Amino acid sequence: SRRALLSIKDIACQTLDGVRIGLQANIELPDEVGLALSQGAEGIGLFRSEFLFMGRENLPSEEEQFHAYQSVVQQMGNRPVTIRTLDIGADKSLDGEATVATNPALGQRAIRYCLARPELFAAQLRAILRASAFGSVRVLIPMITSLAEVRATYEMIESVKRSLSAQGIAFDPTVPIGAMVEVPAMAIAIEPFADAFDFLSIGTNDLIQYTLGIDRADSEVSPLYDPLHPAVLRLIAGTINAGERFRKPVSVCGEMAGDANLTRLLLGMGLQQFSMHPRQLLDVKQQILRAHSNALRTKVAAALNRAQSIHPDDLN
Ligand code: PEP
Ligand code: MG
Repeated sequence: SRRALLSIKDIACQTLDGVRIGLQANIELPDEVGLALSQGAEGIGLFRSEFLFMGRENLPSEEEQFHAYQSVVQQMGNRPVTIRTLDIGADKSLDGEATVATNPALGQRAIRYCLARPELFAAQLRAILRASAFGSVRVLIPMITSLAEVRATYEMIESVKRSLSAQGIAFDPTVPIGAMVEVPAMAIAIEPFADAFDFLSIGTNDLIQYTLGIDRADSEVSPLYDPLHPAVLRLIAGTINAGERFRKPVSVCGEMAGDANLTRLLLGMGLQQFSMHPRQLLDVKQQILRAHSNALRTKVAAALNRAQSIHPDDLN
């Protein structure tokens, strides 16, 4: 029951063999922070900032964005808040902006969209950096595919930092910069990205869509949308493994992280940071508290080597 589940909210989240697992929340708007905290979220693992931009005719100003980010940061106290830069395009478009892309999921979306609109991107980065003076902020970049985009993004961040410094505006100069792992190209050639960024967050929703060539929003093909396809599992496992080698934290913030039926599988791949809808936190925590990490890692590694699809029931 919900009440029994709430009783585990404040116990340390670790496996039976003592591996500490982080549990964070995904939010779309600042007013969801209360719910996240009520379910024991240790941080915000994904703040989908595009919801500040959607369903309106004008763009939110730097000032309006700053207040939204600052509100989340202050409500979270010293807990980390991961703000994802604008992921617009594809299934989420700004009102009044006609979608001309023949295939928006493969078009000018997310970081591609932002790098093509430097003023919009700079305003958002300024707002996020200003909010970083009030707590523990992390910046998360969606849809990164190439190292050229990594360089352009860092140049943009550096130039925004320089102008804030010149204006005497406070920000955290060491704010961690991370990337979503959601385009297969990045997961396949993960090393330079793991090297360049401070942390990685796997967006399984898009990673599955792009790996399997299945539109995540098309109900006709939704039976083919398979999180357990061995290719998907190998990309996730490879990313987690790169994080271990490069000593960079890796989280999963796509829907897989919040599916309690998949918790043991993700633990078996070595995942130590989960971010999900607040309502899913305690169900997943219950699975973690009952799991034996080492045993799961051995089982999952063997199946991945054989490119077998792993059935969650086999891990019970
Ligand atoms: C994802 O792609 O898994 C993800 C978390 O981002 P979004 O669902 O917002 O695309
Ligand atoms: Mg995504």
